[in-house]
Amino acid sequence: MVYRLYAFNRRQTISAGDVKMKACVIGAGIGGLSTASLLLQNGWEVEIYEKEKIAGGRALSCKLNDYEDLLQRFEMKIIATNPDMQQICDMAKEYKIDLGFHLIGGGKRGACIKLLRQLNIKANFVGSRLGFIGDKIDYPILKAKDKAAMLPRILQLLFTRKSKIEEMKKLSMEEMIRKYGRGKLKLVLELFPRLITTVNDLSKISAGETFFAQRELLGGDPVVYPYGGLGNISKALAAYIKSKGGKIFFGKRIKRIIIEDGIAKGVEIEGELKEYDAIVSTLPVQHLFSIADEKEFPEEWVKYIRGLEGTGSILSYHALKNLDKNLLNKSFVFIERNVDFEGNDVVGMIDFKMNYETGVTPKGKFIVQSYAICTPHEAKNERKAIELAEIIEKNLQKLLPFKKHMEWSIHAAIWHLDGVAKTIDNEKPNVATPVKNLYLAGDSVASKGVGINCAADSARLVMEELF
Ligand SMILES: Cc1cc2nc3c(=O)[nH]c(=O)nc-3n(C[C@H](O)[C@H](O)[C@H](O)COP(=O)(O)OP(=O)(O)OC[C@H]3O[C@@H](n4cnc5c(N)ncnc54)[C@H](O)[C@@H]3O)c2cc1C
Repeated sequence: MVYRLYAFNRRQTISAGDVKMKACVIGAGIGGLSTASLLLQNGWEVEIYEKEKIAGGRALSCKLNDYEDLLQRFEMKIIATNPDMQQICDMAKEYKIDLGFHLIGGGKRGACIKLLRQLNIKANFVGSRLGFIGDKIDYPILKAKDKAAMLPRILQLLFTRKSKIEEMKKLSMEEMIRKYGRGKLKLVLELFPRLITTVNDLSKISAGETFFAQRELLGGDPVVYPYGGLGNISKALAAYIKSKGGKIFFGKRIKRIIIEDGIAKGVEIEGELKEYDAIVSTLPVQHLFSIADEKEFPEEWVKYIRGLEGTGSILSYHALKNLDKNLLNKSFVFIERNVDFEGNDVVGMIDFKMNYETGVTPKGKFIVQSYAICTPHEAKNERKAIELAEIIEKNLQKLLPFKKHMEWSIHAAIWHLDGVAKTIDNEKPNVATPVKNLYLAGDSVASKGVGINCAADSARLVMEELF
């Protein structure tokens, strides 16, 4: 097919004062929806193209009937179920589930909720502190007396000068623990950096990044879950976008970003060429070259992007017909020590916020959502993945005799939990790319927080580049 590319020179000369600038956002996940919302707020015209039929990307909610198919489309797969998936679908028609375990870190201090507030979008969340599953159950992990004992050291670390934090960025958490890790502070330093990065290997986690992230979130609930399910956030953002005149095209996969002379000029969609003043890709960044010709980028940059690693995880859902009320809406973390996984220990979380009160299960029913951190490589290894599911169930058993109350369970593996792991050896890219007018957004870029917060905060960085 021969395209008439000469038409693509027109927009180069248009400035914001003459006519509305027009952006194409590729992907309607949290990153794309957040970026589109802020662009609209800043007076741009926005068109979003989403390959799926619904918004939300890796943070969507769905019925169980659609679950298995959607998982496969987002680099996940089911590794075990009880009973088989067809039987679960038949018995659990009224349940709504997210693509996998999802809690948002930092509550009102996190980038996602801050963005919703900035856009005046109302959303309700249930939040909690974290408990610890050790020899005994400790809820919350940090009691007033622990905080008092650790306070001087914690404050010293958290409120280190910004310049010192920059220095600390190259220092690993492993070294930090060797230096400061005593008593309960050691446990805290072993747990939180892993939860913040979804990486088990403390030698790869930057102490500076961790303390900087933790300082940003101080004062918020450690973890929150949205009423109505995670997909409600995307729904609310999509409704905002439509109310501001933005367009979202579902079931439309961008085939190619058109780049000429180092400038991104438009996109190819179903054989049609469309031109834009700015193009924002929210694909996991390693997939960028599936829609943009790598020859248009400096070789070094292509090599760097291709070499970036995401994070992996094993996720479990256990649907229960009864739950001890003391557990309702709480979250717990565990650490399984000296196991054959990268980092030697496996950290995970078990959460009780998915239930009829939060509106995702039928009356009187509960879902326990859990995850265990692993590398993408470990998530793809069936034997390792099953081992992690067993670790999750072993820790769940310490909280309650779940098998007695269980109606069904699903375990899935994901090898692209976070677009790019926030680790020392894996520096996240900036939103600006070497190609003019082409930007990156979503959880792959160097914004604040991880996962959903990182994806939401990437929108702020795109605005900083554009305005
Ligand atoms: C199972 C699971 C559990 C998680 N748990 C947590 C958690 O507890 N807390 C947390 O903060 N984060 C969690 N995360 C991470 C969080 O979900 C992601 O960081 C976040 O949703 C990423 O948003 P995004 O917009 O960057 O990317 P995505 O959600 O992947 O959005 C990209 C969108 O682009 C679309 N797309 C791709 N290619 C094309 C194309 N060619 N044309 C058009 N559209 C295209 C995709 O369909 C997708 O909708 C979890 C992720 C998973 C998968």
